[in-house]
Amino acid sequence: MQVALDDYVWAAGVATDLVNTAPEVWHGEDKLPDLASLAAFAELRSLPEPTRAGDLRAVHRLRVTVRDLVDHPDQARLITGATALTSSIGDVTLLTGSARWAVSVRPGAKVADSLALVCGVGILGVVQSLGVERFRACGAPTCRGAFIDTTRPGRRRYCMPGLCGNRVNVANHRARKLSQEGFEKS
Ligand SMILES: [Zn+2]
Repeated sequence: MQVALDDYVWAAGVATDLVNTAPEVWHGEDKLPDLASLAAFAELRSLPEPTRAGDLRAVHRLRVTVRDLVDHPDQARLITGATALTSSIGDVTLLTGSARWAVSVRPGAKVADSLALVCGVGILGVVQSLGVERFRACGAPTCRGAFIDTTRPGRRRYCMPGLCGNRVNVANHRARKLSQEGFEKS
């Protein structure tokens, strides 16, 4: 597997997706509970197929590590932590076809190694190109998710915009309606 070094937007998106599968984000429900769910997560992102229970445990450990990095947006800490995630690099190369800089995982690397490399490249790319203020907690008051904002203006507020953004809109709408009703009654 190869990761294009200029594709940090995709890579950081994978890191965000990974941290937001954690049970703490879903009121105790793990969104990567078994090998089948991990296989689906991996296939969608062209990662090696998980084959054993150890793969799942390794990805769960990686998820905690990546979340800890997103939660502590200090430049030196992010660089050190993300660099450690890239230990499965085999070679620096150019992508065939587009000749973009890329790194490949060393032969025999498992799904957690490849995913770690993707997260490492994503975090380093965002630190370099966008800055550490792009590592944020979800803005929805009831959500414990976190994300790396790779949008151009950098004003993303929610870990899962479709879900958390909608929840906040619905809650605001209800609150407005309630205060309006209260106003009408008094
Ligand atoms: Zn959220």
